[in-house]
Amino acid sequence: MTYRLLVLPGDGIGPEIVDQALRVLECLRADFGLDMECEHGLIGGAACDQAGSPLPDETLSLARAADAVLLGAVGGARYDALERHLRPERGLLAIRSELDLFGNLRPAILYPQLAAASALKPDVVAGLDLMIIRELTGGIYFGEPRGIRELSGGERQGYNTLVYRESEIERIGRLGFETARKRNGRLCSVDKANVLEVSELWREVMQRLAADYPDVELSHMYVDNAAMQLVRAPKQFDVIVTGNMFGDILSDCAAMLTGSIGMLPSASLDASGKGLYEPVHGSAPDIAGKDVANPLATILSLAMLLRHSLGEPELAGRIEQAVGDVLDQGLRTEDIESEDTRRVGTKAMGDAVVAALRSEA
Ligand code: NAD
Repeated sequence: MTYRLLVLPGDGIGPEIVDQALRVLECLRADFGLDMECEHGLIGGAACDQAGSPLPDETLSLARAADAVLLGAVGGARYDALERHLRPERGLLAIRSELDLFGNLRPAILYPQLAAASALKPDVVAGLDLMIIRELTGGIYFGEPRGIRELSGGERQGYNTLVYRESEIERIGRLGFETARKRNGRLCSVDKANVLEVSELWREVMQRLAADYPDVELSHMYVDNAAMQLVRAPKQFDVIVTGNMFGDILSDCAAMLTGSIGMLPSASLDASGKGLYEPVHGSAPDIAGKDVANPLATILSLAMLLRHSLGEPELAGRIEQAVGDVLDQGLRTEDIESEDTRRVGTKAMGDAVVAALRSEA
């Protein structure tokens, strides 16, 4: 069967890093028999410039018709002055919510070759391999009512609403249990049940689901403790499942354990496993167009796409192996370099991954 991929390069370094992932994809097509058609679409600032909206209708229709979406990044200072609904980040929030991509998978894996790049001591992070699952379409980022209102007396008050329905908790909970089942069988649900009623319900639903997964060991942790444990002893975790805002913060914290945000891929899945794949980092306008951005997070996002949406774990494994080979060769973009390594640019890193992949063919 022919897979259909929608490619959304976006802004800043987005087009440069997506280009490298597409070269890897081309190699999979030419040398490994992957049957895939690619279409390109607009999102973010580039879409505002060319189509007047950060998520044009055409992009949304292409995304609905595709088997998976590969995205670079969105955003840039020159769009910050736009009205809120026109900002690039709105396009990203909208596509996640329109496609009902409620389950955000963010692996934090420390490649042994990069142990020196972590801010933590090597023995604390060596061998780190944890998965954070963040609920992506509910919680306080979407809850109503929201706004800024004027109180009697003239002072203004900002307000947002943290809400979760049982069904929303259940579907992200199940994704957590299923993921833990395929890994080391441990799931830690992170909440703030000592203070928030919504977390009380979250915990109750997680406990109820545990009965369906007797092979998974479920634990609970308050979010403040989880933040502390992530930097104290991150290897205690296998899979973490949590709500939208807690997951946003904890996954960036976990990202830094691995040394560079330029290495971290992510997947956002709907109930059928269809998904949008993107690096965890943003559009990095400070380095855009300079051929210094690390393309590996985007290349590893392509690997996740093959594994989670297309059911091609063998090809995914080949990409991950090729990335490991390139790191073994001592090649590093600026963000992950250390003594005794050789600095390469974005494109040369893409060349090296393609060459490593070809040598496996
Ligand atoms: P950022 O992730 O773009 O950059 C943070 C730092 O990391 C910068 O110093 C950058 O140079 C570096 N960096 C990021 N990716 C890198 C890579 N692949 N290789 C090497 N270095 C890399 O975050 P920011 O600076 O806070 O935001 C910049 C813009 O990106 C903003 O407009 C923001 O809204 C947007 N943003 C978009 C997304 C997304 O598209 N998913 C996520 C976060 C931020």
